[in-house]
Amino acid sequence: MSGVVIVGAGQAGFQVAASLRQGGFAGAVTLVGDEPRLPYQRPPLSKTYIKTDAAFDSLLLKPESFFEKHAIALRLGESVAAIDRAARSVTLADGSALTFDHLVLATGAANRVVPVRGHDRRGVHQLRTAEDAERLRAELAAASTVAIVGGGFIGLEVAAALQALEKRVTVIEAADRLMGRTVSRPVSAFFLDEHRRMGTTILLGTAIDSVLGDQRTRGVRLSDGRDIDADLVLIAAGVTPNDQLAEAAGLRTDRGVVVDQHMRTDDRAIFAIGDCAVFPSVHTGTAVRLESVQNAVDQAKLVAARILAQDDDAATLEPYRAVPWFWSDQGPFKLQIVGLTAGADHVEMAKLDEAGKLVAYCFAGERLLGIETVNRPGEHMLGRRILADGLLVARDAVARHDFDLKTHFN
Ligand code: FAD
Repeated sequence: MSGVVIVGAGQAGFQVAASLRQGGFAGAVTLVGDEPRLPYQRPPLSKTYIKTDAAFDSLLLKPESFFEKHAIALRLGESVAAIDRAARSVTLADGSALTFDHLVLATGAANRVVPVRGHDRRGVHQLRTAEDAERLRAELAAASTVAIVGGGFIGLEVAAALQALEKRVTVIEAADRLMGRTVSRPVSAFFLDEHRRMGTTILLGTAIDSVLGDQRTRGVRLSDGRDIDADLVLIAAGVTPNDQLAEAAGLRTDRGVVVDQHMRTDDRAIFAIGDCAVFPSVHTGTAVRLESVQNAVDQAKLVAARILAQDDDAATLEPYRAVPWFWSDQGPFKLQIVGLTAGADHVEMAKLDEAGKLVAYCFAGERLLGIETVNRPGEHMLGRRILADGLLVARDAVARHDFDLKTHFN
């Protein structure tokens, strides 16, 4: 029986299946995932899960009964090894095949391996899956010093979580600032101060040379020759998209599976969404690949709607235009970002009189690209509306001492 086959039972894959059923799709829906677990949320892994004894079930997107009730066939603990585009089928690792009318690639991304000497020693961890988090959590009790390689969202969320467990934490970041790919300089600087205040040692402009120890890690050697003690090392140095399956099937890839504004690959029967997909953004005018729950969910909903509408006419289809947003919880600080702010050439900081809060308006010329906030959810939510509706926020208005986004749009 054909129907929709979804490769990857993560955030995006789950959402396609759920939205198809919600929209009344009557055909077969099969969700194939190589992790042996029901679809779950990853964000808590680096925030609460590693520092508590929370049960895995608390992460579930839906209980098992949901999949039974909605006739979503689960093939968990199984991986898709190949796509036969001519036969419209996929082959699983055990040799069995599934045919499809539509195939959705939601294969996500894998942690980047930093190829330094000793990276495979015991006590060296990565964090992408619940299994990774549980392994890390199990070893944390006996560790007092932790080195984290990478000062991005995940490294910093873990650093803050480990401060709560009173570990001695060092973050090693090769760039000259924290979260350099994703936030503006003032926001990087704010988090540098706050993490240091929480007790974390942060080394910027510093690379790791090797992991020290015999079988188990006892620390890391830095590229400048210094040694840092560490009972545990977490490598959190970014991800690479899982696009090998698509590439082997002759689909276009370019650091991700290349899709059009409707999430379609070159093969009209095959979509790609979420962390694995590179798509033309209507917001930046460039090809982007985003790693966020919002992006995974919204692209999944769009693809489900396309399949339900059985409409393949590019002239009548609305392109993917959801406004990107993201959050990161680092100790007491909730960072929220709306828009894609990487191309900003000017950042206007709101004049707030409250400590520990921040609103950064990121402009390219006169155009507002996005807003980065810390512990200011009101401005974040309003920012989403402003960007979605294309409302204008003038740079000189924001620069005024008494500017307030909420009064400006009331
Ligand atoms: P994934 O959720 O990675 O799912 C892909 C699945 O496909 C995986 O299970 C993978 O094993 C499987 N797969 C791959 N290849 C195959 C194959 N051939 N056959 C079968 N299965 C396959 N985002 C936020 O917006 N806010 C946050 O605070 C936040 N925190 C995060 C914290 C952590 C620790 C991590 C790891 C991510 C976080 N993210 C956060 C990012 C967010 O979780 C991802 O963007 C989202 O999970 C992407 O969904 P996806 O379905 O594209 O990929």
